[in-house]
Amino acid sequence: MLAVQLAHLPGGPFACDIHLVEPRPIAGPGLAYTARRPEYLLNVRSPQLSAFPENPGHFVEWLQTNHTPACEQEFCSRETYGHYIQELVTTIISHSPINGIRVTVHHTAATAATLAPDGKSAVLELANGTRLSSDYVVLALGNFPPLPPTRPADGYSNHPGFHGNPWAQGALRSIGLDDSVLLIGSGLTAVDVLLGLRADGHRAPITVVSGHGRWPSTHGPAEPTYPSFYTTELQELKTVGEVVAAIRRRVRTAATQGIDWRPVLDSLRPDLGNIWANWPLPEQARFLRHVSSLWTTIRHRSPPQNAAIIEQLMAAGQVQVYQGRVQHLVSQGPELAVHIRRKRSTAVLTAQHVVSCTGPLLDYTRIQDPLVLSLREAGQLVPDALRLGIVTDEHGALLTADGSVSPVYFTLGPSRRPAYFESTAVPELRQQAVALAQLLGSKVAGQPRV
Ligand SMILES: Cc1cc2nc3c(=O)[nH]c(=O)nc-3n(C[C@H](O)[C@H](O)[C@H](O)COP(=O)(O)OP(=O)(O)OC[C@H]3O[C@@H](n4cnc5c(N)ncnc54)[C@H](O)[C@@H]3O)c2cc1C
Repeated sequence: MLAVQLAHLPGGPFACDIHLVEPRPIAGPGLAYTARRPEYLLNVRSPQLSAFPENPGHFVEWLQTNHTPACEQEFCSRETYGHYIQELVTTIISHSPINGIRVTVHHTAATAATLAPDGKSAVLELANGTRLSSDYVVLALGNFPPLPPTRPADGYSNHPGFHGNPWAQGALRSIGLDDSVLLIGSGLTAVDVLLGLRADGHRAPITVVSGHGRWPSTHGPAEPTYPSFYTTELQELKTVGEVVAAIRRRVRTAATQGIDWRPVLDSLRPDLGNIWANWPLPEQARFLRHVSSLWTTIRHRSPPQNAAIIEQLMAAGQVQVYQGRVQHLVSQGPELAVHIRRKRSTAVLTAQHVVSCTGPLLDYTRIQDPLVLSLREAGQLVPDALRLGIVTDEHGALLTADGSVSPVYFTLGPSRRPAYFESTAVPELRQQAVALAQLLGSKVAGQPRV
């Protein structure tokens, strides 16, 4: 989206080259929108998913001209969205140079980055041996697969029934229709896995183990918007307790007027980053400890179709939720034994397949991607104290180990959670793409080719 925004930036033509480095065979759809599984639905309605915030009807118009069946106002498949993004990227590549910008795609991974001696550019090493010199390097690395659910992982990580990365291509293919399955986690990833297994015709029982035992809440009908109360009631609040109490009050008042809690929460969406940034670090830590798991289930909702399928599977007894925390995993012949701690007891469940659905790894001290490692070791990339992502300035420029603002390295996407907390979904990320494109555009404008 950043490349697309640069290509559409007013004030051009710019004299610059964009090198998109992406090991997937198609650049654009990324991890979330590559899977060819129509049952995986977007969790945002189509009218909120235009790639261009200033042209909110763009995705809906694209759906209309591409005759994609009736999801124009509702929840399309992620595969459909992948086609949309792919088309936007393909257009800027095939019309290159566009706006003075030449776009080249390298279908390989970036493995290291080294700052030039003058500190004003970097050399990027790619897995295919190519070296690229660039004035600006933007890390748009997305979401990393979860850490093993318990450590040490050597007792189970090589077991053929253990699926540590639920997003890997064909991750569920080895699960037989009559094999028992246990999912760790009950968030949106677990919902996807259940939908995938159901679409494949899975017949055997599926156990879902979850600390809180809650499914993501469900989207209500598309409702009129609720007026934001951020400036009048929340802007000055410095503690999590005060903010939660103020929101609860509003939700209660709205309920007496027949208004659902969802539009009340959604009215705050543009300011969630401000609420987060207004809390000092100990309050942010308090939010993570006490509120974030509930927050995630009410903020990141499932489309009603998905929720209905989960309900059906539970009512039929095929899916059972087991509340508790996984403490150990042990290979036991063809099965895995899952040791679970509950409030006052422990239990051991066994299954032929265990799928880790605990959510993306955000802790950049633990990410072992070679590019991340090289930048971290050089002090050019600093993980934040709460282990949510990368430390940046307000524009997404990386802060280095000595606290200075990098003139070369930038990031956007889930890595910017330390700044916004909510830095995951398209409506937030497209804004980041616009802002970063404007910044980089102003830097390259009027310069010789960069
Ligand atoms: C399964 C899933 C479903 C989601 N569903 C939705 C949804 O319905 N609605 C919504 O709004 N948001 C959704 N999201 C949130 C998602 O974070 C964003 O919508 C968006 O896709 C993130 O885009 P990105 O470009 O930051 O990351 P990605 O699209 O993941 O792109 C990052 C890319 O970086 C590449 N990469 C990583 N390391 C390197 C390297 N060293 N060298 C070269 N390339 C590298 C990867 O191959 C990847 O393709 C979902 C996320 C996931 C994981």
